[in-house]
Amino acid sequence: MEASKLNYYKEILEDRKKQIFKNIHNVSDELAQLSECELNDEGDHVATITHSVVDNILARRQVQELKEINRALNKIASKKYGTCEMCGVDIGSQRLGVKPHALYCIDCREIAEKTEDI
Ligand SMILES: [Zn+2]
Repeated sequence: MEASKLNYYKEILEDRKKQIFKNIHNVSDELAQLSECELNDEGDHVATITHSVVDNILARRQVQELKEINRALNKIASKKYGTCEMCGVDIGSQRLGVKPHALYCIDCREIAEKTEDI
């Protein structure tokens, strides 16, 4: 991949990383506030728990995405960005445009998703 393209994706990935750090920070702030609140009745309690579970899933997804972004950034540094980690083919700019931190081509992504535990 050309250096100008690598830089372009690098900027997108760095921006996304900052956004995720902000999101995770907001979520943990919210959770901290919730746990400090007095819970008056069952209804509030359930709402709070549901809210926390949703936040946890979101936070976990973001942490997972963060890992993939870091890996993609490493691949940019070693000039391997844009190739599938499993089969080595070009991931393709169309897919990278949608998901710049993609580590696998579409075919391998399906296999990877089945073997991942989340
Ligand atoms: Zn592949």
